[in-house]
Amino acid sequence: MLLVTDLEAALGDAGAGEVDFSTRRRAEYSSDASLYRVVPVAVAFPRTREEVVAIVGVCRELRVPLIARGAGTSIAGNAVGEGLVVDFSRHLNRVHSIDAAAGTAVVDPGVVLDDLQRAAAPYGLRFGPDPSTHSRCTLGGMIGNNACGSRALGYGRTADNVVDLDIVTGTGERLTVRAGADPATSPTLAALDAVVRERLGLIRTEFGRFGRQVSGYSLEHLLPENGFDVARAMVGSEGGWGILLGATVRLVRAPMATRLVVLGYPDMAAAADAVPALLPVGPVAVEGLDERIVDVVRRQRGDATIPALPEGTGWLFVELGGSDGEDLDARAEAVVSAAGALGSRVVSDPAEAGALWRIREDGSGLAARATPERPGQSGWEDAAVPPEHLGAYLRDFEALMASFDLAGVPYGHFGDGCVHVRINFALDDGGGVAVFREFLGRAAELVARYGGSMSGEHGDGRARGELLPHMYSAGALEAFTAVKDVFDPDRILNPGIIVEPRPVDADLRLASAAPLTTDLAFGYVHDGGDFANAVHRCTGVGKCRVGADSGGVMCPSYRATLDEKDSTRGRSRVLQELVNGTLVNGWDAPEVHEALDLCLSCKACSSDCPTGIDMATYKSEALHQRYRRRLRPSAHYALGWLPRWARVVSRTPRLFNALMRSPLAGVGKRVAGVDSRRDLPVFAHETFRQWFAGHETPAGTPVLLWVDTFTDHFTPQVGQAAVRVLEDAGYSVRIPARKLCCALTWISTGQLDAARTILGRSVAALAAELEPGMALVGVEPSCIAVFKSDAPELLGQTPEVVAVAAAVRTLAEALADRDRWTPPDLSGVTAVAQPHCHQHAVLGWAADAALLRGAGARVETVQGCCGLAGNFGAERGHYDVSVAVAETALLPAVRNAPDDAVVLTDGFSCRTQLEGLTARRGTHLAELLAERLQGQA
Ligand SMILES: Cc1cc2nc3c(=O)[nH]c(=O)nc-3n(C[C@H](O)[C@H](O)[C@H](O)COP(=O)(O)OP(=O)(O)OC[C@H]3O[C@@H](n4cnc5c(N)ncnc54)[C@H](O)[C@@H]3O)c2cc1C
Repeated sequence: MLLVTDLEAALGDAGAGEVDFSTRRRAEYSSDASLYRVVPVAVAFPRTREEVVAIVGVCRELRVPLIARGAGTSIAGNAVGEGLVVDFSRHLNRVHSIDAAAGTAVVDPGVVLDDLQRAAAPYGLRFGPDPSTHSRCTLGGMIGNNACGSRALGYGRTADNVVDLDIVTGTGERLTVRAGADPATSPTLAALDAVVRERLGLIRTEFGRFGRQVSGYSLEHLLPENGFDVARAMVGSEGGWGILLGATVRLVRAPMATRLVVLGYPDMAAAADAVPALLPVGPVAVEGLDERIVDVVRRQRGDATIPALPEGTGWLFVELGGSDGEDLDARAEAVVSAAGALGSRVVSDPAEAGALWRIREDGSGLAARATPERPGQSGWEDAAVPPEHLGAYLRDFEALMASFDLAGVPYGHFGDGCVHVRINFALDDGGGVAVFREFLGRAAELVARYGGSMSGEHGDGRARGELLPHMYSAGALEAFTAVKDVFDPDRILNPGIIVEPRPVDADLRLASAAPLTTDLAFGYVHDGGDFANAVHRCTGVGKCRVGADSGGVMCPSYRATLDEKDSTRGRSRVLQELVNGTLVNGWDAPEVHEALDLCLSCKACSSDCPTGIDMATYKSEALHQRYRRRLRPSAHYALGWLPRWARVVSRTPRLFNALMRSPLAGVGKRVAGVDSRRDLPVFAHETFRQWFAGHETPAGTPVLLWVDTFTDHFTPQVGQAAVRVLEDAGYSVRIPARKLCCALTWISTGQLDAARTILGRSVAALAAELEPGMALVGVEPSCIAVFKSDAPELLGQTPEVVAVAAAVRTLAEALADRDRWTPPDLSGVTAVAQPHCHQHAVLGWAADAALLRGAGARVETVQGCCGLAGNFGAERGHYDVSVAVAETALLPAVRNAPDDAVVLTDGFSCRTQLEGLTARRGTHLAELLAERLQGQA
């Protein structure tokens, strides 16, 4: 029996580098993007190839399974296992060189595909295959799975784009494999050559039958007529032949121009029937999708994200690439005339083409939510058939799902005959797992009948290995075993995959195993009131593991640390283990609080994650559960109760400000749990409410201005500017009769009983003061976002909550409602705009962008969190990460901005962070507009 201490000692002695045996780390790596959960013994983060070789040596010696891992976005359970998981993405992630003349790149296994694309772009080159996960998937993982993606039709699969691979095998032999290697140079190659020569007839008939035959090993590349190409054959072996230390990959010339032809059909099967006629035109990609995917993207992202589509309910996106616009137009016409479609559009504008492709890319993550009654699951998600059979296969496949009373939304790489689908298996029903198992068997039979492959690009993993006999003869399966015996006779490398496979229904990760519905503070209204369902929304697609260069906002802490621990997915895994209860025990478990500590509660995941995880809410719940009726960290009292303290201090603001500039400030910060490097905000001598009491309000359309604590006590000038602008637009501004609070600081510190009381009181007062049709305008985004997102979860969907949420408007939205108001002229203004995270996630920033651009400003929008995020960045222990988050987007944008640029920041936190870390001042939209109005007057 393996003793963990023996493994730890052996790895240490061998110089294996950083290896983490902690429970939290093991929870983070217990799943990939699949349905499977297997808790590893530890996770290694090698920095050098030598460390990897040392790890393989120890695993061989102690017979410990070794599971290589890139980004862990495999959907079939290819990157989980009970041994040592080796994460290549953390350190071994460099592009070493690009040879533009040869069209090749030398890469580490952990290089993210988008990073390689960025490095190759200046040479007019790119790596051909492009899975939807391109922003985080690694070359090692793509080689492991033989990843393809939309443009594999034009540029080939990963297998078609490798030159040589530097590997260490399960026997410990270190090799560089490529086409034409001499078997006599290595015992492994000699044995492999013998396996192939004994089975030439079998390999010639059963392998390489069509492009997407990804299931099983790709033995056809080992045939003598194919140059005994061990590099290509190894692609798709899912970490089971050898561990990749580095690779030379082929790059293709990126097209100078593209055309996207969108074709509409009565349904998906009709669209699939049309595919064979389009292939002779030589498209780079032919993708199929239908209205169910479009609808789910529209629901999640809004109407504006969907460009016009031709008539129909099933569409093909056909991309053509080349250098000559006229030739492309002629080929686009040829596509349209061969298509037999109900309608068509040819798109040449790259921005519009990008928006259309985003439907397809987002759809692949969102498809899991396309069947409203039950989420779609992975398991049968990438089967492929030769394209000429695709229409017929799709009709039979839809009938098969219906016969099991299952539903899913097929879409995918139709040009290659590959169909993606997420099926709403009722895994939480008593017999659900048995149905899952039976369905997979029947689907495998169906695909085999059409000469297809159970996997067309994701690999077999745990979901399909057991089904291989449907597709391959006994002789072919025996050949797989013989090859595995050559590379990994002791079954060290990713055991249970392809050869001696685990059952498809073993090790499933089920939310239903441990529902958590009682004694919760939030309602989890979209998850049946079940915290387990909420955290199991995370299927592991890994969009939260995207570096700052790839756009978006999620997940600020991961962007700063590049550690799975600080990703939304890593946190979800730990919370899934909390509800499961076998690894992480209860709300008090240190693993839970370590995992959540660096979550900024920015809510970006609630909008950017395709599965709709809302980590801010779960963090708040976890803090609430842990500290309820117990002594809390001092920051919870100091920063969580800030509105209360502000009220007290506002009686003597000068005295407090003076104290905070004296040596006593240090003591105060220490007691309050505030980092000593943070400046405390300065109290205004006159609050906004005091100013407003003396303000003469003109007649106009009544509007209720929400007076938040930050505006009232620290930046009353922002409130005053908002009043000026609203009045200019014809509003008559009122403020709540009593001082109210949204309870944000109580929510973010998990003081949810108090939050419910305070927020409930405010909602009741607001509902009474709001007249029908009257807007509730706020200038502090995080405060008014509470009424829209937290209030229904904390207080329930009461008529008062619904009415107040419906009345909420940002300043820009309220101004957009005034048709006849003209904003001041902003031409000549360059604005570096930092939308607050809650604007990004909850309120939206489109009205702000439209207002600014409509008024003539040049706007550069910062993509990322400021890093302060309310109490987060002020708390002791968070300063360094807070600054690192600011460095991912805000600070570089500000450094690159011209001196006269306005840094537009509506959030009090964002302004505080900016002013604490730079010499620039942040300006609220209200201030910019008011100042210009005054100038105009
Ligand atoms: C929403 C979504 C969309 C997707 N879309 C596509 C798509 O369009 N096309 C497509 O092909 N795939 C797609 N995938 C699947 C997946 O993203 C790809 O297969 C991707 O290439 C996996 O890369 P990774 O870095 O995440 O690899 P991982 O999942 O970490 O690993 C993949 C396999 O490679 C092995 N491996 C990793 N590193 C090494 C190494 N150094 N040495 C040896 N073996 C190694 C692992 O053991 C594992 O078996 C999608 C997945 C998701 C979640």
